Amino acid sequence: MLKRRLGKTNLMVSIIGFGAIKLPLIDRETSGRILSRALDLGINFIDTARAYGDSEEKIGLAISNRRDEFYISTKSGALTYEDMKKDVEASLKNLRTDYIDLYLCHNLRYPDDYNRAMSSGGAIEALKDARREGIIGHIGFSCHRFHETMERGIRSGLFEAIMVSYNMLDDESVGERILPLAKESDVGVIAMKPLAGGFLASPPQELVKRAGIPINAETALKFIISNDAVTTAIPGMMRMEEVEENARIGENFAYMSGEELKMVREAAKLISESFCRGCGYCQPCPQEVRIPVILRQLAYYKNYGLTEWAKWRYKMVEVKADSCIQCGQCVEKCPYGLNIPEMLKEAHMLLSS
Ligand code: SF4
Ligand code: SF4
Repeated sequence: MLKRRLGKTNLMVSIIGFGAIKLPLIDRETSGRILSRALDLGINFIDTARAYGDSEEKIGLAISNRRDEFYISTKSGALTYEDMKKDVEASLKNLRTDYIDLYLCHNLRYPDDYNRAMSSGGAIEALKDARREGIIGHIGFSCHRFHETMERGIRSGLFEAIMVSYNMLDDESVGERILPLAKESDVGVIAMKPLAGGFLASPPQELVKRAGIPINAETALKFIISNDAVTTAIPGMMRMEEVEENARIGENFAYMSGEELKMVREAAKLISESFCRGCGYCQPCPQEVRIPVILRQLAYYKNYGLTEWAKWRYKMVEVKADSCIQCGQCVEKCPYGLNIPEMLKEAHMLLSS
């Protein structure tokens, strides 16, 4: 499988990595089998975290005997020196190794947290000491949504890699602002949520029809890897078929043409504009309309063909969509620019018929 250099770390990483966030959902034996298979198929980058339940332990148990075949990346949300030191020690023990290739500050977001972690006595000093002692190789950070923190981290020169949520929908808008900056600064980019939590691997057929191109794991992963700023995409995996399919996509990777990229962007726009992620940022509504609940029923009705079920669920919604007075407050808050009042109108029409 093609490998790319992970920024300043100089690690040569497979373009498809193994996201180990879902390992707590499966048993040890299955974890062992899929991790071993991933290595057999050329995946050489595995990402986990202290916060992912027993994911570190399962990796340690399954493949620590093949330690020279993969790079391990893990992360901790600790902000202080002592807490980070303890977490590094715990990761080493769980992973049954004496060396972690990449250690990340997990989800640094708020300026106060960033300042705390970077200050004297902060987490960064523990990571630097661990690197000096040779128990970790490189330091990175992960971040969601907070572009300013991402930029600070990249520009600080302290980090060799960044992990961001990036896929064809680009819900967190990192494509234009963050990825080029990381590339220019030689900070390696690890793309998490490349399949939008599995949504892009099997989106509703209705959406696929309207998109006009196949929307599946292959399209989604190829789109990401066609961006040179990204070193590796790490779909979360828990089934053997996923490992084999994702590895096959990495193995057969060819850059998308300009025309293909354009079509994917258009399809992504269409999908983005028509599906509610249920994040709840649009709430509260002055009329007490529970927008995500109603839009979920609309999606069941339109995209999954569960018409009667959706109508039955809608009956139980206390404040119906026709209570919307179109004040527009929710539209301003929705990060995906959904036309909520229009969607609510449609929901009421379909679900109360
Ligand atoms: S536009 Fe409708 S749903 Fe949105 S906040 Fe206003 S009343 Fe609520
Ligand atoms: S309408 Fe927008 S803000 Fe509200 S839950 Fe859906 S995606 Fe989130």
